[in-house]
This record gives sequence, structure tokens and C-alpha cells, in this order.
Amino acid sequence: MYLILLGAPGAGKGTQAVTLTRELGLVQISSGDLFREAQKKGAELGLLAKSYMEKGALVPDEITIKMILERLAAPDCARGCILDGFPRTLEQARGLEQALAKQKKSIDKVLYIKVSTEELIKRLSGRWICRNCQTPYHVVNNPPKVAGKCDACGGELYQRADDTVETARKRLDVYFAQTAPLIDYYRKAGKLVEVNGDRGIEEVARESLAALSQ
Ligand code: ADP
Ligand code: ADP
Ligand code: ZN
Repeated sequence: MYLILLGAPGAGKGTQAVTLTRELGLVQISSGDLFREAQKKGAELGLLAKSYMEKGALVPDEITIKMILERLAAPDCARGCILDGFPRTLEQARGLEQALAKQKKSIDKVLYIKVSTEELIKRLSGRWICRNCQTPYHVVNNPPKVAGKCDACGGELYQRADDTVETARKRLDVYFAQTAPLIDYYRKAGKLVEVNGDRGIEEVARESLAALSQ
């Protein structure tokens, strides 16, 4: 099964991926995590992506599509995967479709997590991420059991440089201009499953699993 998580920055894609990977037995592939990992390692991909990410702009399609297709070719994706943060443009959606079609595969479902804009800013500005396993937390909504430490792996938590209010607003503008058209694109393809992401984390998880099993 190939599942796409679609939604604005801060909608809860990474948070819901924690439950979905466990319940569906699929790996999560996060384009943002892959870019950050490449930066940490000092890899060329990381350098290419850095200036775009700092500004809150999208990394060019060509670079992003290549990175994801390479990751999808790994053995742990043979049975499918959960794509988090990709595709973010129509060009990326078409690139993915064509690559899957060559292997007689296709996207099964697109889970669209819908959240109001004011809530998104609050979520992004209070987000903390595990440096080691990338699990997201929130100072108020989803705090770790021990301050500054990841529940899952004990790793150190940090705030992303692009989670300031200013850059978050820029990322939301980019989302509405370049990514939101994908909602209609996948709805027309009959693949869109929409959930109300304004509610609590567990409620959204329950609703998502129920909607996906239909
Ligand atoms: P969020 O979880 O807040 O939505 P991500 O971690 O997915 O943020 O992305 C962080 C940044 O990485 C984006 O602002 C963008 O610069 C870059 N990025 C991630 N995924 C993509 C993509 N599919 N296409 C282009 N740029 C991307
Ligand atoms: P995305 O991957 O879509 O950018 P995240 O999963 O990283 O979003 O969530 C953004 C922030 O909002 C995190 O701090 C997370 O703990 C918090 N969060 C996620 N889902 C919810 C929810 N349903 N209610 C309240 N806070 C949430
Ligand atoms: Zn961790």
C-alpha cells in the first residue's frame, strides 16, 4: 500500500505517522527528514536544500523527486510506504505516479489532514523534534514525559530553525499556493480521504484509521 499524508505544515502528518506506521506495518518516508539528515551528514543534497529550507521555500522539484525515488527503491519500501511531506507540487505528484506506473504500482490513498490556519501557527511555534528519531512533540499539546528528552529513544529534543512564527507563515503561504491544489487533484482521482485534524492527536488517529479501512 502506498499512502500519502497531505496537509499544511503543522497539520500533524509526522505525529499521525507514528500510529499509522505501527498499525499499517509500513515505513514512513519524510522528505523533510531526508533533507535534514543530508544536512547533518554534510552531504551535497543537504547543501542544495539548505537555502530553500531556511527561507521556507520549496526545494526544486527535480532535486526532491530524485531523492524520493531513490529512497523508494530501497527494499523496505517494496510492499509500499507512507509518504509524509511528499508530493508537495503537481509536478512531484506526476513524477511519483510515473515512477510507480513503471513498476505497475500506484498510490492507493491520500489522507488529507485538514487544520485551521491559526491552529497551525500555534502548533509549529511550539513544536520540538527528537534529534535522533525525528518524533515530534509540542510544549503544550504533546509534551515529552521528561523535559527535553524523547519518550521513544531518549534523544535530545530541539526546535527547528524554520519553526519561527515568521518562517512558519511563509511556509503556509507556500503551502496554499503550491501544495493545496493537490487536494483537488487527488479528490478527482478518487483517492482522497479527509479527516478533521483540529481535534486531539488520539482522536485524529482513530478517525484516520477508520477512514482508511473503508
Ligand atoms: P513540515 O513538517 O513543517 O511540513 P517538512 O519537514 O516536511 O516541514 O519540510 C521542511 C522543509 O523542507 C520545507 O519547508 C521545504 O523547504 C523542504 N521540503 C520538504 N519536503 C519537500 C517537498 N516535497 N518539496 C520541496 N521541498 C520540500
Ligand atoms: P507536520 O508533520 O504536518 O508538519 P507535526 O506532526 O510535526 O506536523 O505536528 C506539528 C506540531 O503540532 C507538533 O508539535 C505536534 O506535537 C503538534 N500536534 C500534532 N497533531 C496535533 C493535534 N491533533 N492536536 C494538537 N497538537 C498536535
Ligand atoms: Zn527519539
